[in-house]
Amino acid sequence: MVEKTYNPYENAQAQFDKVAAIIGIDEGTRDLLRQPLREFHVLIPVHMDDGSTKVFRGFRVQHNDARGPAKGGIRFHPHETADTVRALSMWMTWKCAMVDIPLGGGKGGVICDPHNLSESEQEGLCRGWVRQLAKVMGPCVDVPAPDVMTSAKHMLWMLDEYETIHGGRYPGFITGKPVGMGGSLGRTEATGYGVIYILREALKDLGIKLEETTVGFQGFGNVARYAGSLYSSLGGTVVSVSCWDNGAKQSFTIRKKDGLDLEMLAGITNSYGTIDREKALAAGCEVLPGDEWISQEVDILIPSALENQITPANINRISKKVKVIVEGANGPTTPDADELIRERGIFLIPDFLANAGGVTCSYFEQVQSNSNFFWEKNEVLDRLNSQLTAAYRALYDLAQKKKMYMRDAAYVIAINRVVQAVKMRGWVR
Ligand code: GLU
Repeated sequence: MVEKTYNPYENAQAQFDKVAAIIGIDEGTRDLLRQPLREFHVLIPVHMDDGSTKVFRGFRVQHNDARGPAKGGIRFHPHETADTVRALSMWMTWKCAMVDIPLGGGKGGVICDPHNLSESEQEGLCRGWVRQLAKVMGPCVDVPAPDVMTSAKHMLWMLDEYETIHGGRYPGFITGKPVGMGGSLGRTEATGYGVIYILREALKDLGIKLEETTVGFQGFGNVARYAGSLYSSLGGTVVSVSCWDNGAKQSFTIRKKDGLDLEMLAGITNSYGTIDREKALAAGCEVLPGDEWISQEVDILIPSALENQITPANINRISKKVKVIVEGANGPTTPDADELIRERGIFLIPDFLANAGGVTCSYFEQVQSNSNFFWEKNEVLDRLNSQLTAAYRALYDLAQKKKMYMRDAAYVIAINRVVQAVKMRGWVR
């Protein structure tokens, strides 16, 4: 049987169309919001260490900036496509609107595999991407941030290139900068912590004690690691995580039924997020195939890797025990699988709320960078908690009141806010 392939942009449009029809948005507005306002496709020549020049393909998509400058990460991934970046930029628009921060949606990507690039080649790629896009981005236009396989180090190279081109200091050009170089305390932890701030609220609504729950993650990157550590410190048990083994070109799952020691695991994980299997085995963990993350007997599943991971082909592998799915990743569930999750009555916390902690903290970073005054970590995290909790409460209340599925209710809130902005600006009547 040929496995069905999913196009994230088609998924994002299908999700939008469904809710646009429920709300009854007029055709002009629908047409404006179901696709990006602007997109840029660039070629980036990079001087390689062996003396050759390699040309990479990069993208920046600005889906909508009616509520504020476009905002969103830049991914380095060998399977990056224009359509994936389009979808992700669209989800950023809904994400920023959902948590009510004054930003629009954008996303960037470069088709590359950083595993095969030296430090200086990665620096060349970062600078080259900015060189091609410096005229169409900026602190008041479009503000990038870290994402899959990019980090604070990459952000600073990008900032330096932007500032060199524009001849000044523009710390608001990019977020996710290193602390001490315009970065915000708490930014690294923000996405993962945000997942748990929201999960904690949801469990209260469901009448479930967090301390009595178990979690299985897909992934062990920035999201899963910090979400897992906060969740464990609140008394929950992380049973499994998964990661990508670039050498073997496959993923694997690490499990310990009575609870993983995430700090120990982080200590045996390389800079690309690959856990050392031998050391994990020696520490009493089990090593299972990569796709086993989905069939763990846990109360809560948190997919925190890439898009299109939960599909009709694997949804039946989700254990009957699972009561909650929190989408730590962007777009981990395909629309056809989403229907099945709804039918099974699993409580879903949709991606553009669940993982909005990162961009919310990016907004705080911009505020701090632009005023050149930096907050204490506790202040950052307290504000993050309040902002996300308020967004979750509004969503839960709407979903309860209108008896709506959580993802649909989230779309209703986010789309309505963006519709209001494009109308107030007079882009559509
Ligand atoms: N890449 C993160 C996301 O998908 C953060 C974006 C940002 O901080 O702008 O939400």
